[in-house]
Amino acid sequence: MKKLRLFFSVFAVLLLLVSLLPSAGLAKKPANPTNEVAVGKDGMVSTSHPLASEVGADILKRGGNAIDAAIAIQLALNVVEPMMSGIGGGGFMMVYDAEEDETIIINSRERAPAGATPDMFLRPNGTVIPFQERVRHGNSVGVPGTLKGLEAAHERWGSVPFQQLITPAFQLAQHGFSVDRQLALQIENNRDKLAQTAAKDVFLPNGNPLEEGEWLVQRDLAKTLGLIRAKGTDVFYNGEIGEALANTVQQFGGSMVLEDLQNYDVTVDLPVWGEYKGYDIASMPPPSSGGIFLLQMLKILDHFDIEQYDRQSEEVYHLLAEVMHLAYADRAAYAGDPEFVEVPTVGLLHPDYILERSELIDINNVNRNPQAGDPWRFEDVSPNYEVVNQNDDKDIGETTHFTVVDQWGNFVSFTTTIEQVFGSGIMVPGYGLMLNNELTDFDAVPGGANEVQPNKRPLSSMTPTIVFEDGKPILSVGSPGGPTIITSVLQVILNIINYEMGLEEAIAEPRIYTNNLNSYRWEEGIPEEAISSLNEMGHRFPASSELIGNVQSIFIDYVKEEYVGVADARRDGASIGYTHPGKGRK
Ligand code: GLU
Repeated sequence: MKKLRLFFSVFAVLLLLVSLLPSAGLAKKPANPTNEVAVGKDGMVSTSHPLASEVGADILKRGGNAIDAAIAIQLALNVVEPMMSGIGGGGFMMVYDAEEDETIIINSRERAPAGATPDMFLRPNGTVIPFQERVRHGNSVGVPGTLKGLEAAHERWGSVPFQQLITPAFQLAQHGFSVDRQLALQIENNRDKLAQTAAKDVFLPNGNPLEEGEWLVQRDLAKTLGLIRAKGTDVFYNGEIGEALANTVQQFGGSMVLEDLQNYDVTVDLPVWGEYKGYDIASMPPPSSGGIFLLQMLKILDHFDIEQYDRQSEEVYHLLAEVMHLAYADRAAYAGDPEFVEVPTVGLLHPDYILERSELIDINNVNRNPQAGDPWRFEDVSPNYEVVNQNDDKDIGETTHFTVVDQWGNFVSFTTTIEQVFGSGIMVPGYGLMLNNELTDFDAVPGGANEVQPNKRPLSSMTPTIVFEDGKPILSVGSPGGPTIITSVLQVILNIINYEMGLEEAIAEPRIYTNNLNSYRWEEGIPEEAISSLNEMGHRFPASSELIGNVQSIFIDYVKEEYVGVADARRDGASIGYTHPGKGRK
């Protein structure tokens, strides 16, 4: 354990040097220098957008805590990364509270409105409505939770008035900012979806997608943020914004009414905990599948001593693919909202069950029929649902993860989403906010753990995670990427713990993803020979690579008393450290 800390200390110095060099990241980088890696004594912010990172770092500099900064970052991201998250969506904010020495989650996952029905994604003849059609329909919009979540976090921990935390986002919306490469790309990619709604006036002025470098002012969004700043969150959940929101959802065929917003509330959850090679890992419990299956995959892999194989060897990719297949078979069968269904958390993580699952993996052969197991025999309860096959036609979502730590050691790991890029594509006219399509995270075919029910939360994969060593938090990890999220977090943790990589290297290391024999993805940088031999073995990696996930992460170096932040080079995020001028860390 100590070895790892020392390694990170040495690595932190290297990171500083490396950050001065031109980036050799996986994504095609612009020519200007990036600030993906940073070191700070008194605080650290790492987000997928430099302007949002600046907003957070500024709050820390002015004496705010990590939760204050996280609130301001989320609101700023709504403006500068409007396609990924915002007050029209939901998320999981994991907080390590240093004073209480406890880790809890403010869960602002969207809920189905009261009028939602299990068959709402089926045509009258019983066939499933195609995904691209489901996404754009009002029925895909869940009752948004983000703003309530920020308010709940602020009530519990906030030290800067909420109004002040909204101001930077308000100013970015009101005065505008320069459209970056990612936003321009996503507007272009989602042109058709945006053209169907009020979003076209903002993102496709005169019918043309905004381009990189153009100035984007969002007057309606500024009005909305100004209203919330002046009147509080009630204007959203019980006032004019809520009314306009529900009306818009209805115009797109959905059932949402103002009462659904009035009835919305967050939950405060405890993490699912697991031990891995001496580290304690706190991750996201149901209604996310993230934590359980992250821990399950780590524990199954622990039976194979993977570090005996080279990180980029065929054996490691094979073991990863096999463990993913088993975990995702269980995920599809047994995961859902625990307010509605029994999730066999104890069974899925029971050592005997883990052993039994590990025995289904053969280092020399592909398991051609990975099936869900029987975790129920380790439980006192039985399932209150069936296992229903879904013909999964979903596109993988891409949203956002960020992380903050402050001078007192409070640590935030926050994954936040409107599901697909630009969510449902629906903008509330006159209010400038994008609405999520989170309800397409429910199964389209009813009967299983994750069927639609009124007031229920759809199954998520979001995996905000904090790793502890000797009782102290040392690392935050998380990623967007829909179901790929769990595997991105898994691979970063393996890279750090099993392969002793530094944080930047661990995040840059190319990843794979697969949840069954028809869903393989791989990233550039993986040796092509490894891909060919894996395919000869029976895996089905496609011909071309694609990017997977976007991990923002912070490492706490207790030896050097400093924080190391890394923003994933797959996008153009930024880490910003904060050190009191003239002082060391308190
Ligand atoms: N809707 C996805 C989930 O909750 C998240 C999408 C993403 O963050 O990439 O699992």
